[in-house]
Amino acid sequence: MFYNYRNIPINYVMIHKAECRFCNNGQGVQNVILGGANGEWNGPYNTFRIAHQNAVATGFEVRLCGRCNPNN
Ligand SMILES: [Zn+2]
Repeated sequence: MFYNYRNIPINYVMIHKAECRFCNNGQGVQNVILGGANGEWNGPYNTFRIAHQNAVATGFEVRLCGRCNPNN
């Protein structure tokens, strides 16, 4: 499963695997980098392809998490 994190102030969407420590099944890291005030989680998505399509559809810059490498 995959999740997208949409960072609203910086205008990007980061794709993560659900098990990534930064994603934590769409809950993020509490009170750290991915706080709810700066954005929102979308998902889960069954495949990377679907997550990527949804990320592109936001119109934001699409980034892939360098820790969980969601496209592998
Ligand atoms: Zn990740």
